[in-house]
Amino acid sequence: MSAQPSSARPAETYDVVVVGAGFGGMYMLHRLRGLGFSVRVYEQGGGVGGTWYWNRYPGARCDVESMQYSYSFSEELQQEWDWSERYAPQPEILRYANHVADRFKLRSDMEFNMAVKACAFDERANIWSVTLAGGKTATAKFVVLATGCLSNARKPDIKGLESFKGPVYHTGNWPHDEVDFTGLRVGIIGTGSSGIQSVPVIAGQASHLTVFQRTPQFSIPARNAPMTAADRKRFRDNYPEIRRFAREESRNGIYTELPDRGALDDGDNERRAKYEARWQYGGLTFMSVYNNLALDQAANDTAADFVREKIDEIVKDRETAGLLRPANYPIGTKRICIDTDYFDTFNRPNVTLVDIKANPIEEILPNAVRTGGKDHEIDALVLATGFDAMTGSVAKIDITGRGGQTLNRKWAEGPKTYLGLMSAGFPNLFLITGPGSPSVLSNMIVSIEQHVDWIADCVSYMRERGLDSMEAETAAEEKWVAHVNEVAYTTLYPQADSWYMGANIPGKPRIFMPYIGGVGPYRQICNDVAAKGYEGFAVSRAEVERKVAS
Ligand SMILES: Cc1cc2nc3c(=O)[nH]c(=O)nc-3n(C[C@H](O)[C@H](O)[C@H](O)COP(=O)(O)OP(=O)(O)OC[C@H]3O[C@@H](n4cnc5c(N)ncnc54)[C@H](O)[C@@H]3O)c2cc1C
Repeated sequence: MSAQPSSARPAETYDVVVVGAGFGGMYMLHRLRGLGFSVRVYEQGGGVGGTWYWNRYPGARCDVESMQYSYSFSEELQQEWDWSERYAPQPEILRYANHVADRFKLRSDMEFNMAVKACAFDERANIWSVTLAGGKTATAKFVVLATGCLSNARKPDIKGLESFKGPVYHTGNWPHDEVDFTGLRVGIIGTGSSGIQSVPVIAGQASHLTVFQRTPQFSIPARNAPMTAADRKRFRDNYPEIRRFAREESRNGIYTELPDRGALDDGDNERRAKYEARWQYGGLTFMSVYNNLALDQAANDTAADFVREKIDEIVKDRETAGLLRPANYPIGTKRICIDTDYFDTFNRPNVTLVDIKANPIEEILPNAVRTGGKDHEIDALVLATGFDAMTGSVAKIDITGRGGQTLNRKWAEGPKTYLGLMSAGFPNLFLITGPGSPSVLSNMIVSIEQHVDWIADCVSYMRERGLDSMEAETAAEEKWVAHVNEVAYTTLYPQADSWYMGANIPGKPRIFMPYIGGVGPYRQICNDVAAKGYEGFAVSRAEVERKVAS
């Protein structure tokens, strides 16, 4: 393995190829380069930032507070970057990603507008061959898939969509130039996080907005506000403890008070007061009021009822309020949304809600969306239809491992990994925030940093010992997959038809993909595995094997 600076390497041969230049790929490059590995990052987009490069829709912003949804690996970086709002908007997060790329001089080892099409493992040489768009190839000992969990925008299969005469936008692949809806009749399909963020902003511009809703969502007010210097100082002074807690003790990578009681341990008035206080405070910690909201249906009902009552209070039209009230799944078991004026937007005279659960979209016409025999005329259409989450971007790459097995074939019944980091039969191929790890259930930058550090330690370990390959053992993988599943089914999560379950993609296997055991406990498991010499992973030294074979 070379320890030479990447500028002196032979062309197209690297120690590590990293796919994707979002927060995962950027930090992976920084860590590996610091260890003296030659690295190439291939990114299909035109710049860094991943999610924040693609999702430029009106109202896009993070829903974990920016002081926490930011890298912790550099003390200087976290002290010097000034977030302007409690939840930074997309342009600011993208500026931050670009700042990180410049500050740590990452761009020289990145290639943009370069999609990875295929990766094939050469068992004799223990080398991955990577095929890029345009037929170019590269080889590397290791491949890291930093391809993102929410990076494969899902275009719905709706009859007539191609015939629509006006512009069609997908929130997950938004144009770089400003889109102005002034004076237009706009339709938006989908009311997940992206829909909920964009509806109030589009409604403020459009002459009319028609919201096509299949499933109503639980949404909590963000209470976004400008960050003051004092707010920033409070975080900065306490960063060591905030970051430690998020990594080691929290379940979701967010610093917050840990509840010590269940929802039914309090009487009605006390419980209501606690929910009210969190509703007023705003944000994701609403679900941390009690310690059993994800576990106990009766406890969960108390939180769900509280939010449903809030929707009733805010939305004036009774029929619209009824349609907006989620009824068929426990609160929090679909990704909980964080909004600014979402429910209130339905009080505007220029907004109409259409229930496409009761009256599914029949067809899109050149100037309208037809549901239940009625044509809703529109000039522009927004698809807020989400992603083929967690596995979609990996599945788009044709990955062939040991014995000619493809990852898509192996994962046909659902993704199988050991710790969400590797999949048996695919040596030296790592996933960042892969299925089987906390990933989308957490503050993802915390999970990204943990995976990147683990992978960096692992490849250093291999270099020190002259190892040629490492891969998950099938038995360890099967045990982990069973554990992930078992833990999921101790909670209420599998009750919802969510994208965590793959339920938003027709034909996708219904498996609860992320690991719900908690960020802190999961980190401990990963650390223990490494401390025991990468227990559950098989290693090989090709030189030794070849000698034995000859
Ligand atoms: C609108 C939105 C808001 C979000 N808000 C939050 C939040 O508040 N808190 C939170 O924790 N998480 C949030 N997330 C999740 C977010 O995806 C992660 O926080 C994080 O940005 C993921 O970083 P990543 O590098 O793992 O993946 P990504 O940012 O998705 O980057 C992956 C990159 O890989 C590239 N890529 C994929 N396949 C290929 C290929 N074959 N060849 C070349 N390049 C490829 C993609 O183009 C992409 O740029 C949000 C997601 C969305 C969509």
